Amino acid sequence: MAVFITETCINCDACIDECPATAIVSADESPLPHAEFTYVKPEKCIECVDAAVPKCADVCPTEGCIVWDMPYTEEYNDYFVLSDDYVIRVHKKHGLLSPLVAPRPFRDSISQDVRASRIGVGETLKLYN
Ligand code: SF4
Ligand code: SF4
Repeated sequence: MAVFITETCINCDACIDECPATAIVSADESPLPHAEFTYVKPEKCIECVDAAVPKCADVCPTEGCIVWDMPYTEEYNDYFVLSDDYVIRVHKKHGLLSPLVAPRPFRDSISQDVRASRIGVGETLKLYN
């Protein structure tokens, strides 16, 4: 993916307009059933690989709210497709936009351990330099 928005989100939606990949939607537009929080679409998130820092986490007022998740790559296909945390978009022409079909860029500098532990993006800022 990607980054994941946790339950500490206050739904201020400040992150939505900052995302260069239009990957973030408000709770009202989340594909999750009974969504309560702003949501990141992992099939769109590019981890802001062309920017100094992930833009969403940079503007988020809630410390630790946005955390790392696994890369949206073939290796983690089942992780994303089978997860209750995500509902992957089904494209009219291309079908399910799974990591197998449409992998996304990710930051090499963020370890698998950090991702698996869902460490806050803000806590890893030192890794970007
Ligand atoms: S990391 Fe970047 S691309 Fe991903 S949701 Fe946040 S702002 Fe969008
Ligand atoms: S900026 Fe942070 S608190 Fe506000 S909606 Fe986005 S994730 Fe939630």
